[in-house]
Amino acid sequence: MPTVTDRGRSSTAMTEKYDAVVCGLGVMGCAALYHLARRGRRVLGIDRLAPGHDRGSSHGETRVIRLAYFEHPSYVPLVRRSYELWRELAAEAAQPLLHITGVAEIGPPDGELVAGTLAAARLHDIPHEMLAAAELMRRYPAFHLPPHYVGVVQRDGGFLEAESCVRSLLALARQHGATIRTGEAVRTIAPTAAGAQITTDNATIAAGTAIVAAGPWTSSLLPRARLPLRVTRQVMGWFASQEPDRFSSKKFPVFLIESPHGVHYGFPLHGAGVKVAKHHHCDQTVDPDRYDRHVSAEDEALIRAAVADHLPGANGALTHAKTCLYTVTPDGDFIVDRLPDAPSILVASACSGHGFKFAPAVGEILADLADGSDPKLDIARFRIARFR
Ligand SMILES: Cc1cc2nc3c(=O)[nH]c(=O)nc-3n(C[C@H](O)[C@H](O)[C@H](O)COP(=O)(O)OP(=O)(O)OC[C@H]3O[C@@H](n4cnc5c(N)ncnc54)[C@H](O)[C@@H]3O)c2cc1C
Repeated sequence: MPTVTDRGRSSTAMTEKYDAVVCGLGVMGCAALYHLARRGRRVLGIDRLAPGHDRGSSHGETRVIRLAYFEHPSYVPLVRRSYELWRELAAEAAQPLLHITGVAEIGPPDGELVAGTLAAARLHDIPHEMLAAAELMRRYPAFHLPPHYVGVVQRDGGFLEAESCVRSLLALARQHGATIRTGEAVRTIAPTAAGAQITTDNATIAAGTAIVAAGPWTSSLLPRARLPLRVTRQVMGWFASQEPDRFSSKKFPVFLIESPHGVHYGFPLHGAGVKVAKHHHCDQTVDPDRYDRHVSAEDEALIRAAVADHLPGANGALTHAKTCLYTVTPDGDFIVDRLPDAPSILVASACSGHGFKFAPAVGEILADLADGSDPKLDIARFRIARFR
């Protein structure tokens, strides 16, 4: 039977043994735990906080999912698999999780966003429409756009319910037999002849494989791996709308817009208001244990600049705001790999500000690696060796 324990409850130090131990239960760790438990593996997931919390990278109500991937077309197979898995998970959890609203990626025709989205859509034969600014504003009257902007609209785009995804993955993992411990910090992870040894606040655990999915704390848990990860402070804002009807998910898509203010993204009305954020915000490097979680007037101004110019009907009061953390690699691609000098330790740093949508596929890859099999999806792009 699965067990959930909190810090302070007794644990059987030195006697615990698992096929795999997942260190960190943000969306990536929860997804790995789910796949391993579903395969019948004896698996333990540990987090020092209560999953669904707002200290890491997996909170904030919503996350964009989109298929024609402007960052690089090689992500398309991974996101296709993720769509399949999110739908399966939503059915299994009996939760909506995934909302298809369409996505509009808007900007100058030669900008990185529009050109990259079009390239991925054409290469992978993804249904899309290319609309001029006037046509975009007719279809979605909430937008206010300069005449030379264009938008690539994909009907498959939409959003995921962030906290609900995390909690559903965790609940399903538990139903499939995973052991979950929260309120317990992992202190060290070391390779052994039989796999790995994990020490926590109150236990020493033997595992065939250790999976490190500690988000912004990955480098502090694996200092000797010297992974080139940088943690940056991000801000999300929710704005009151004077025209709520125009921003309903029936009339308004998820969007990304590239403008002189940067790349902003946002969502139809859902929860606290129209949510908008600036991708990378100030790109400020921070210590995940000591950063300013207060949202300042300067933070608000960076987001509101795009709202005022392009979504005038959402330029009302800031009703809610939250900080969050990106863990970024130098090239913006993920790390999903074995540690080169300790192959029983896997690391999943799938963030750089765009990882959430891929979580169930990344979890499946981690489960394949933990099982000693080759993942069906190509992970060459995510290898640690590329930094050496
Ligand atoms: C503002 C913002 C917007 C984003 N928008 C999108 C988007 O629209 N679409 C998209 O696809 N992606 C998006 N992302 C990226 C995405 O959210 C991340 O890729 C994803 O959440 C990373 O999850 P994670 O599990 O790796 O990390 P986290 O969620 O940070 O989880 C790490 C976990 O490890 C635990 N932990 C750390 N150290 C220890 C320890 N020593 N012992 C025990 N537990 C430990 C932490 O408590 C935490 O729960 C966004 C990210 C942010 C911040």
